[in-house]
Amino acid sequence: MADYDAIVIGAGMGGLSSSALLANHGLKVLLLEQSGRIGGCCSTFERNGYRHDVGASIVEIIQPIEKVFRTMGTTFQKEVDLIPCDPLFSVMYRNGERITIEKSLEATGEVISSLSAEDGRRWKDFCAYYNEMMTVLIDALFFDAADTMGDMRKMMKKNPGLKKFLPTFLVTYQDMFEKYFKSEKVLDTMAYQSLYMGMPPALTPGPFSMIPYTEHAGIWYPRGGMIRIPEALLRCGTKKGLEIQMDSPVDKVLIRKNRACGVRLENGREISSKIVVSDVNPKMLYQKMIGEEHIPWLTRMGVRSLELGKSLCMIYVGLNSRPKLDAHHSYTAVSMKEVNDFWTKHVETGVMLPAEKNYGLICWTSHSDDSLAPKGHHVLNVIPESFYRLKGNDWDSFKNQFVEEYLDYVSRDLVPGLKDQVTQVIASSPLDYERTLRLPEGALYCFHQDATHQAVLRPSAKSKSIDGLYLCGSGTHPGGGVPTTTASGMIAYNKIVENEKL
Ligand SMILES: Cc1cc2nc3c(=O)[nH]c(=O)nc-3n(C[C@H](O)[C@H](O)[C@H](O)COP(=O)(O)OP(=O)(O)OC[C@H]3O[C@@H](n4cnc5c(N)ncnc54)[C@H](O)[C@@H]3O)c2cc1C
Repeated sequence: MADYDAIVIGAGMGGLSSSALLANHGLKVLLLEQSGRIGGCCSTFERNGYRHDVGASIVEIIQPIEKVFRTMGTTFQKEVDLIPCDPLFSVMYRNGERITIEKSLEATGEVISSLSAEDGRRWKDFCAYYNEMMTVLIDALFFDAADTMGDMRKMMKKNPGLKKFLPTFLVTYQDMFEKYFKSEKVLDTMAYQSLYMGMPPALTPGPFSMIPYTEHAGIWYPRGGMIRIPEALLRCGTKKGLEIQMDSPVDKVLIRKNRACGVRLENGREISSKIVVSDVNPKMLYQKMIGEEHIPWLTRMGVRSLELGKSLCMIYVGLNSRPKLDAHHSYTAVSMKEVNDFWTKHVETGVMLPAEKNYGLICWTSHSDDSLAPKGHHVLNVIPESFYRLKGNDWDSFKNQFVEEYLDYVSRDLVPGLKDQVTQVIASSPLDYERTLRLPEGALYCFHQDATHQAVLRPSAKSKSIDGLYLCGSGTHPGGGVPTTTASGMIAYNKIVENEKL
């Protein structure tokens, strides 16, 4: 008799949504988290009265999260106080100019027209096309499994509208934008968002060019910090009997007769279960926690071929007053070429850009939620572009210099006087993410999210080589992001209900 029906490894969004849904289904579920905090990349920590988000700083395309809460008999909005963010973002040109993009499509059209009358006219065609594309792609891609060609056929059958947008899978994010817009100044406002997929515009698959449009359907910030979303999932799960053990790193998945039958913790304790669900990087799962000897050669080769994705350095800043910013998110205007070149000339060679040529995002979370900092104070997450492998250096030696130089540049050229307002600076380098969240190479979305790591080419929700083993999280379809990883937990749950007699 197994100790649990299901053991779930990792309390990230994927692990939390799958474990809460399984508990809601009446199963005896144990969720094991190696750290002392839930939420993984979607979490919040407090230091000296400032609440900083570990990674994610907004949520958009919330339909999958809504569906998970609805399945558990409640609603996302009832469980989490979602603050709408409008303006959506501000774009900071290096010459000091700024533009602000509001939720309203009309207002955005006016801003684009002010940059280029011709592109302003094209904005209307762009919106008409993307409005239809967004509806079709969200329904098609974010709710169902993509483990097999059979799953893909089912997806096509269920979403006949998808056919019209199949050609977008054969082009890139950059192609899609350059089809509509010609002005460099306009295109420079749209390049950065490809990095929300963890890839530069020339490598991001065409369908994800919908991101700058989907933001107009709404972006939200949970009052109290991003951790409120994982907390809500955990609360719903524990009401249905879900058990969680913190500070419990799993060392091995136990396999008997080619079936997952429990886990061994790093302290040597073994816990048995009928199935195991993993929210950790699938490469780490198959190679270290299971061992290549337990998987057939085809899986072995497939897993070896998966390339770890992008990482970054996050700077958490406390301020004693309001920063000179205009929106929850502000990013540097940057050309598609600059973002592509960063990838080929810097990520691949390990040579970092000088601060004044770097670019990035500033998340001003206390703009939306003033409870995040002491009265009159503010918090920012400053995110310059960066990567894991440094040529001739390592992040422990380089971090302080990198952070100092980037904040100097921001304070001088982008947000005047920022440094004089700073009361605390904490930074998480790619190496820190690797250590604290056990993300190999600090890879935010586990693997690249280019065309070669999508859908059936990403590790399956139901393991093809080990019975009773299910996967969720950003290493699986539909990839990285708070809503998508929440969806991955639901997809794993559906596969379990479909395949297991529990
Ligand atoms: C800097 C940054 C900014 C981001 N910004 C956004 C954003 O604004 N909006 C958005 O939607 N998404 C954003 N994302 C992406 C989003 O946060 C992630 O894709 C998502 O939260 C990942 O969820 P996950 O389920 O894959 O697991 P993770 O968050 O990776 O969590 C996995 C969990 O497993 C635990 N674990 C690992 N190994 C073990 C083990 N051996 N035993 C037990 N537990 C283990 C870890 O401690 C962790 O808690 C961002 C991510 C980062 C890093």
